[in-house]
Amino acid sequence: MNDIDFIRHDYKTLQSKHKVQVIHAKVKRVDGATSSVILENGDVIPFHRAVVSPGIDFKYEKGYIEGSEEHSPHAYKAGDQTLLLRKQLEEMKDGGTYVMVAPPNPFRCPPGPYERISLVAHYLKTNKPKSKIVILDQKKKFSKQGLFQEGWEDLYGDMIEWRSVEFGGKVVKVDPIKRIITTDENEVKADVLNYIPSQKAGKLAFDSGLTKGDWCPINTRTFESRLVKNVHVIGDASIATKMPKSGFSANSQAKIAALQISRLLKKMPAINPPKLANTCYSLLSPTYGISVSAVYEALENKIVKVEGSGGLSPMGANKEYRMLEAEYAEGWYKNQTSDIFR
Ligand SMILES: Cc1cc2nc3c(=O)[nH]c(=O)nc-3n(C[C@H](O)[C@H](O)[C@H](O)COP(=O)(O)OP(=O)(O)OC[C@H]3O[C@@H](n4cnc5c(N)ncnc54)[C@H](O)[C@@H]3O)c2cc1C
Repeated sequence: MNDIDFIRHDYKTLQSKHKVQVIHAKVKRVDGATSSVILENGDVIPFHRAVVSPGIDFKYEKGYIEGSEEHSPHAYKAGDQTLLLRKQLEEMKDGGTYVMVAPPNPFRCPPGPYERISLVAHYLKTNKPKSKIVILDQKKKFSKQGLFQEGWEDLYGDMIEWRSVEFGGKVVKVDPIKRIITTDENEVKADVLNYIPSQKAGKLAFDSGLTKGDWCPINTRTFESRLVKNVHVIGDASIATKMPKSGFSANSQAKIAALQISRLLKKMPAINPPKLANTCYSLLSPTYGISVSAVYEALENKIVKVEGSGGLSPMGANKEYRMLEAEYAEGWYKNQTSDIFR
């Protein structure tokens, strides 16, 4: 099993090799009116154009209030929450029940909850085989569902029970301290409760006037905010449908935003239509991988999948195929992180 350092990265190479000036500080507001970033320490940084990628925040609801995550971690922003969930899992008794509440759309990383369930199942099968996993899903279906369910049955038998919002999964009430969830059908008692709440754009987006509803509307060709001039929003906070909210998407959007900004600053027309891409690998065990990928292009007001691009891993593939995809997933991670941080 990897520890948290496996997913930790620093900005040293960006500073030393690429000469990027990195300031570690909390931003209070990105102010379009004065074209400046206002830091919480009072410093003000002027800009011609700014790119904001503030990530997500949670919509606490149904008894899962702010602070609840100390008992029932969402572990959907990496760091302390990831470590807490791991600790609880390690302390859970053999024969215990791990319950995940999976969020409604749209949310960060559509296959993320189900990949996590797979790897939790792998850990439990190896270490605590009498345990059960229950997913209470606030959706009717999920990403790569057929592939996940095929793999779960193959690898973990009946350890994982998935209940959709239509069939017994709808959460009516939560007690995050006692870890009891009331659904529209019954009460479920969890030994570990991984409650992933509904999501919205990160607070900074709201504080900077970049949101309409829960997310940030953008010009899909340049990622410039439709609400604040000269401020571009990328990543999970932006409305970039049909692209999924993923790290790969965010990276692809960053490149397009940078390219378009460099052209706009030189008074050149934006590239039209820009092409973007996404691949989401998921591990069902360390040696069993599946994937979905697509190329996208940004039209006037929306981002669409390029017809015939990408695809999904096939159903019914053999062990060797799944093993190769697990290796590709590792390669993908190395490539992405080296692209971003090196
Ligand atoms: C369990 C899980 C598995 C995942 N697996 C994959 C995967 O396999 N492939 C993939 O492509 N994606 C995956 N993702 C999704 C991926 O992590 C996100 O889509 C990606 O991180 C989005 O990037 P972002 O820049 O929008 O947000 P973030 O990565 O959350 O970055 C936002 C940053 O802004 C900072 N910030 C926010 N407000 C302020 C402020 N006021 N001042 C200063 N800084 C601020 C935050 O601290 C944070 O560092 C996964 C996510 C999860 C939870």
